[in-house]
Amino acid sequence: MSMLELAVFLGAAAASARWTWWRRKAAGLPVLVYHKIGRAPAGSRLGSLWVTPEKFRAQVVWLLNHGYTTLLFSDLRKAHKGGKKLPEKAVLITFDDGYENNYAEAYRILKELNARGNIFAVYNAIGKANLWHNPAGEPWINMADLEMLRKMLSSGVIELGSHTMNHPDLEKLPFEDAAWEIAESRKQLQAALGTEICAFAYPYGAGAGNPALRESVFKAGYTFDFSFRQGKTPWPWQREAGPIDRLFIRGGDNELDMYLQLTRGASRLF
Ligand SMILES: [Zn+2]
Repeated sequence: MSMLELAVFLGAAAASARWTWWRRKAAGLPVLVYHKIGRAPAGSRLGSLWVTPEKFRAQVVWLLNHGYTTLLFSDLRKAHKGGKKLPEKAVLITFDDGYENNYAEAYRILKELNARGNIFAVYNAIGKANLWHNPAGEPWINMADLEMLRKMLSSGVIELGSHTMNHPDLEKLPFEDAAWEIAESRKQLQAALGTEICAFAYPYGAGAGNPALRESVFKAGYTFDFSFRQGKTPWPWQREAGPIDRLFIRGGDNELDMYLQLTRGASRLF
């Protein structure tokens, strides 16, 4: 092997470890999951969960330029109930937790680009902070308040789902308490916002593999449950097949990551 061949080989090996371009294309619905849109504050141990507004905007522009239709939960529900086909290139943009920066940045950008997004809100955190994090590792920041949620909802740009009352690890709670977190948050969100809540996301993805907890999600009246598992979900979706998987968007992702996530269901090995 010449030095040049060796260099090419090492380069390809490094790229394979970072990107999964060699993976086969995967069919199914891509659901992106974001958390915070902005710049990570000093001391954040979850820095990769921050995506800058510039990057978020570029990613939405990329989706639209590549022919994707951004859906709302209600679009998904109509397709699910009516057994209708989704647009050929459909994508669901979701945000977990309900941070104020989703209102200040993501909503502003989606509205400007005429795209759609969906926020999984933690009911007891509305207008407060991410109190479930230890502030020594992840600083507390503001969550969107009810007025912001109402404004986003009435714009038709954003729809809401539930992410429990208090963002617990549902697997660590007694079953009745976990079922209460699931059902009560839907009830409270519907009462506060006057809208039907059809989607639920498990905090930390915990409980998504637990059949009894999943059953309590559907008993509470939700149509969809969303996990933290990496991947795309075959559509039409069958509840029995498991929760809807998602594609984790990190602050360091580039256009190649975006393309691989959407086509392969993953962009990284780890
Ligand atoms: Zn969360």
